[in-house]
Amino acid sequence: MLDQLDAQSPDALLALIKMHAQDPREDKIDLGVGVYRTNDGATPVFRAIKAAEQKLVDTQDSKSYLGPEGDTGFVDALKPYIFGKDAAMGGRLEGMQTPGGTGAVRLAVALSKAAGVQRVYLGTPSWPNHAQILEDVGVETGTFRHAAPDGTADIDALLDVIANARASDAVLLHGCCHNPTGVDYTPEQWDRIADALADSGVLPILDVAYHGLGLGLEEDVAGVRKVLAKVPEALVAYSCDKNFGLYRDRVGAFYMIAKSADDLPAITSNANALARANWSMPPDHGGAAVRTVLRDDALTATWLDELAEMRERMRRVRERLAAADNDVPGLNLATLAHQNGLFAVLPLSKDQIVSLREDHGIYMAGSGRINVAGLHEGNTAKFIAALADVTGN
Ligand code: PMP
Repeated sequence: MLDQLDAQSPDALLALIKMHAQDPREDKIDLGVGVYRTNDGATPVFRAIKAAEQKLVDTQDSKSYLGPEGDTGFVDALKPYIFGKDAAMGGRLEGMQTPGGTGAVRLAVALSKAAGVQRVYLGTPSWPNHAQILEDVGVETGTFRHAAPDGTADIDALLDVIANARASDAVLLHGCCHNPTGVDYTPEQWDRIADALADSGVLPILDVAYHGLGLGLEEDVAGVRKVLAKVPEALVAYSCDKNFGLYRDRVGAFYMIAKSADDLPAITSNANALARANWSMPPDHGGAAVRTVLRDDALTATWLDELAEMRERMRRVRERLAAADNDVPGLNLATLAHQNGLFAVLPLSKDQIVSLREDHGIYMAGSGRINVAGLHEGNTAKFIAALADVTGN
């Protein structure tokens, strides 16, 4: 039986990590894997999380099972950050903890399917796992172009899809810090998206995986809130793996916004049943640490400082790259200053990407996606010079 399986192509990014690890060059640069790095190239545990973990060690008196909804204190503590002051939404909002943002996206798609959604629209390019999840859950994937060549969002492509969608369609949108392009919708564009979604009745699935790493905690969810203010119902997938640096602890949350408070129990019972069949219940530790941070004013202040430091560092890298626009014409580096988050896509050819790796020790995804946080004061000049070299400037 098992010998009937065809080998799957290895994950390209994992292969890249391996190649980078084996490269002996001291000045090699890793722009592949999507984790935040400090100016020293490290991905440290947040100070606020370390302190919260210590508190948990000292005070946690049981590791007995929780339910499929996980740590409800964690889920509730995030609500004001995501949904604002009126997080109650008239009793129309309920959430649950998930294994990372990935678990939340999977649950969103599976719940949509259970409710009758047959096709989910996805902007391209997107985080590759989006398409894999849609396929695995068994819904059709519809696509629209996310970013135009000038480095701004192709809003018309999205509005067109929404206007022509069927009643059984959903649309999956990145709330902020689009992966891989870094191209987010402007506030005005979010207004138009919210109106279009409200008119069409298409179900929005909003994926918020980099909250606080773009323009600010409030700014990064302003678009999501505009949509939620207009549409009758929506699903939100949320990750704490980047903005609390908890990657391997798999910390996420899934929120359901119902047409009416009366619909919510049936919706959440379906989400619980799906969670039960998939992972039974989420891993506890990371969610408990986030709850501990958010319930403690001093730890929250530390977390906010750490988040601001990350955001500001990435903004400085973006500005440094944008300032080199004239040194490397043709790559549109200037647009990076107007984009957000960890990622950007450079219009490099396959050969140029190979040359960056082999001749300069610079590792990036084959799509031309770079992790902006892999750059810092000590290596950005080298990166710009290498870009100039491979593009013949
Ligand atoms: N959505 C997007 C757009 C992402 O980029 C990621 C992480 N790469 C996720 C969801 C899932 O995040 P997590 O690591 O929490 O599963």
